[in-house]
Parts: sequence; structure tokens; C-alpha cells
Amino acid sequence: METFDVAAKILLVGLPGVGKSNLMYQFSDNVFFSEYNSTVGVEFKPKVVQHGDRKIKLQIWDIAGKEKLRAILQSYYKGAAVVVIVFDITNEESFKKVPEIVSSAREMADEGTRFILVGNKLDLSEERVVKFYEAKTLAQDLGMLYLEASAKDGLGVETIFMEAAGLVLSSQAKKTEDE
Ligand code: GDP
Ligand code: MG
Repeated sequence: METFDVAAKILLVGLPGVGKSNLMYQFSDNVFFSEYNSTVGVEFKPKVVQHGDRKIKLQIWDIAGKEKLRAILQSYYKGAAVVVIVFDITNEESFKKVPEIVSSAREMADEGTRFILVGNKLDLSEERVVKFYEAKTLAQDLGMLYLEASAKDGLGVETIFMEAAGLVLSSQAKKTEDE
């Protein structure tokens, strides 16, 4: 059995089709599925990462975009250390929805939950419709980090989860300080 110092729940949210499931599979198993299988309910994958001298067990949750029942959604958010909001850089609508997703996520998440914005499908640069600075500005306005990635070729995927691990550790340090 793998040992770890800290365990943290990381939640992936965003419109259906933006690549949440594939970001999770690419990170945990280095695989990519080109056919679209919409997530039913919720799937999760654990992975232990090393961050400095700490080992963090990331429990990555991928939730179905179709879920509308607030009580169920709220149960997904419960205990999440980091919420990763994903959009597709080739899909304007998925970006336009971000502020709305963020505000409902903030309502449902615990007080200490941290957020990261991710623009996925970086490999499809020719079809890109959301500019980097546009997304970066929005993330800044919302007070969160902005990262880009491709679940297909793996570019930037590791960084998302390492940054999430860093946020987990810094939130934890802060909590200890406040006590
Ligand atoms: P989810 O609904 O957010 O979980 O999205 P999926 O992970 O199921 O991906 C939806 C579709 O987009 C699938 O056909 C994937 O193969 C494709 N996809 C996901 N990520 C990428 C990516 O980074 N690049 C490309 N080209 N396609 C992607
Ligand atoms: Mg999915």
C-alpha cells in the first residue's frame, strides 16, 4: 500500500465535453480516449504525488455535467480542497459559462476550498477561439490561477495537479497558523 502525508479531494467541473474525464485519465494512467463517453454519475481516481518533502494523495473526482440536483452536487463539493474549473479553448460557450460555474461552485464549496481555471485542448491551437490573455484576465478577476493543458498529448496536465497539491499544502499551513 502506498503511504502519504496528506489526502485531498480534487474536483473537476465544467460543461460536458470539455475534457474533464480525459484530464483525469491522462494524469492517473497516461491514457487518452478519443471517443466521447459521457460520464455517468461520478468517477474518481487516486494518485499520490510528491510535492517538496510531502506526499499527497490526490483523490480526483470527475462529476457528470448533467447533474442538476443541488443536494447531489453539494455532496460532491463537500470536503473538496481544490475545485478545477475546466473549459475548452475551442469552445466559446464553455468559456462563457465559467463565471456562472464559479459562482455556483463557490456557493456549494466549503469555505477553504481553492480554485484553479484550466483551458483544455491546447493541442487544437488552430481551432482556438478563446485567447490566452482573455482567460488569464478572467481568472485574475475571479482570484484564481489560470493554466492551459492538453489531455490528448498530456501537455500541462501534470502541472494542474501539482499546483493543486501546492494549494492543498498552503491551505493546510494556513489552517495550522489560524488554530
Ligand atoms: P468531459 O465530458 O468533460 O468529461 O469530457 P471528455 O474527457 O469525455 O472529453 C470529451 C471529448 O473531447 C472526447 O471526445 C475527448 O476525446 C475530447 N478531448 C478531451 N480532451 C481533449 C484534448 O485535450 N484535446 C483534444 N483534441 N480532444 C480532447
Ligand atoms: Mg466526463
